[in-house]
Amino acid sequence: TEEIERYEFDVVVIGAGGAGLRAAIEARAQGKRTAIISKSLFGKAHTVMAEGGCAAAMGNVNPNDNWQVHFRDTMRGGKFLNNWRMAELHAKEAPDRVWELETYGALFDRTKDGKISQRNFGGHSYPRLAHVGDRTGLEMIRTLQQKVVSLQQEDYAETGDYEANIRVFHECTITEIFKTGDDENHGGRIAGCFGYYRATGKFVRFDAPAIVLATGGVGKSYQVTSNSWEYTGDGHALALRAGATLINMEFLQFHPTGMVWPPSVKGILVTESVRGDGGVLRNSEGERFMFKYVPDVFREQYAETEEEGDRWYTDADNNRRPPELLPRDEVARAINSEVKAGRGSPHGGVFLDIASRLSPEEIQKRLPSMYHQFKELADVDITKEPMEVGPTCHYVMGGVEVDPDTAMSKVPGLFAAGEVAGGMHGSNRLGGNSLSDLIVFGRRSGLGASEYVDSLGGVRPAVRIDDVAQAQDRALLPFSSATEGGENPFVVQLELQKTMNDLVGIIRKADEVELALKALQDIATKAKTVTVEGGRVFNPGWHLALDLRNMLLVSLCVAKAALERQESRGGHTRDDFPVMDSDWRHLLLVLSANGEDDVHLVRQEQVPMRPDLLDLFELDELKKYYTGEELGGHRAGAG
Ligand code: FAD
Repeated sequence: TEEIERYEFDVVVIGAGGAGLRAAIEARAQGKRTAIISKSLFGKAHTVMAEGGCAAAMGNVNPNDNWQVHFRDTMRGGKFLNNWRMAELHAKEAPDRVWELETYGALFDRTKDGKISQRNFGGHSYPRLAHVGDRTGLEMIRTLQQKVVSLQQEDYAETGDYEANIRVFHECTITEIFKTGDDENHGGRIAGCFGYYRATGKFVRFDAPAIVLATGGVGKSYQVTSNSWEYTGDGHALALRAGATLINMEFLQFHPTGMVWPPSVKGILVTESVRGDGGVLRNSEGERFMFKYVPDVFREQYAETEEEGDRWYTDADNNRRPPELLPRDEVARAINSEVKAGRGSPHGGVFLDIASRLSPEEIQKRLPSMYHQFKELADVDITKEPMEVGPTCHYVMGGVEVDPDTAMSKVPGLFAAGEVAGGMHGSNRLGGNSLSDLIVFGRRSGLGASEYVDSLGGVRPAVRIDDVAQAQDRALLPFSSATEGGENPFVVQLELQKTMNDLVGIIRKADEVELALKALQDIATKAKTVTVEGGRVFNPGWHLALDLRNMLLVSLCVAKAALERQESRGGHTRDDFPVMDSDWRHLLLVLSANGEDDVHLVRQEQVPMRPDLLDLFELDELKKYYTGEELGGHRAGAG
């Protein structure tokens, strides 16, 4: 048998995006020996692609902003299904976390008087997104990586070893998580994890009492997505298999504006900053159609005429915002409806026009990446012509069910932060609230993991040797079943992506989701006989064969939850149940895994919101979301 490389750490962080890096920095700050593992090259995480900015109620551009307003906006955006404690912590702590990034060396764009500038985004009452042009994620990753390096320098000065306390393993994919046996002392706890190096195909094992999942999202289960190849739901699936639970998996965010043309780039994101900076949506008849799609719950906050909407950009205190800046779920559905009604653009999207709204110089200054993206990929000059855009699968609100304060899942020693965690965003995430989520809960998960390790008092949960052997066998399965008639992983992946795109996409119906569940069973059978050719050295077919297992399990969760929730809310729209129903607001759909591809769903009551937080809302607003019974405790009484 093969000799397996082996390491011991206190805390292993799987994922090197914003959440993972911030978690690792915290664990190291707490004196823990920490590993950071990433599937792609260090620095290539999804966070690097974030364009618009990081939401934090610093009040730099509009002094009326504060954590309470941010909290309210976040709850509204999520249609009150959010874990309110997470939304509270997030709104309160985001400003400090942004400041802290500047102490690590980040430099955000400035206001005229030298403060961190903040921009408008959908669903945010005030300009709130700290940004660096439209390359905010790049600055964030650069800074967090720099902080890791500076900590390594400190460690070197002290110990002579750069990697004494924090070590990075990149192009290393984790495929299994190990726990102690249920019958042992400290049973059912995290003991370590197992994976392979992409470049060599060699296996590696990490023994650690605490693991932080920071693996990001699931978008690659969909055909049209803004997500990159890494987003195969690994963390979601690893958590499920380890015995943790997922919540909110029916809620996927379809970003309203992805590129629709040419086909090779379909789905690539067009940042919401285009609309935040004045861009407007028009159909093939030239109509600014969003005015027709303002739902009742938002009517008071949005402009009724184009003139009022336009005035808002220069005088936000005396005008209401344009409906192009409604939360993403609303805009995506509106675009979908326009295209279906035959008023789409030539390539099946709608038009996003910034050219007639800002000068070419201003566009190039504020949206440099978008300018280059369209010029290079579509040969469109956005300073002269409108863009063609349409919805693209962008973000998963669902994820690992965690304790809001410590980020620990149901499994002792297993933590989750960032996109892989569920709850914070409820049924729909506001733009900019992910980058802030990463640093707020990245830090908290690093802290939670460190405290957990301390609580073990030096006990080291042991990895079972049989588990390691099994992990190895499972990883090699696509080679060993290379008899005849095995399935090609790329073909199976495409089938899965089409199934999810067509049957569990932006608009859902019971019969279609049932079809999807059947198709997923077939795909599961095929996935078991996926075979790959060649060896273990950088073999993308093999990597995909292993990812498929995760994509499938996560897709089953999405489809099962989408069938169960008989209402439309946020990122879950049911054609057969088109309205939002208060009786569903307080229910979470909790998923666990029984074996390889059997998913179990139960309904769970949400913890009621703390009265002082509930009192931040007017009763009239709450009535749109809550049942009368639930509002008994509001300061104004349920009436
Ligand atoms: P990521 O940054 O994706 O990192 C995941 C990490 O996990 C990677 O290092 C990956 O290699 C690793 N990983 C995954 N699986 C494994 C495995 N099995 N083994 C080892 N490592 C693994 N949000 C905002 O708030 N503002 C924005 O302006 C914004 N713009 C966006 C633009 C685009 C194009 C996209 C796609 C998203 C945008 N978002 C934005 C969303 C936001 O960027 C993501 O939600 C966020 O970056 C996720 O961060 P994360 O740390 O959770 O995961």
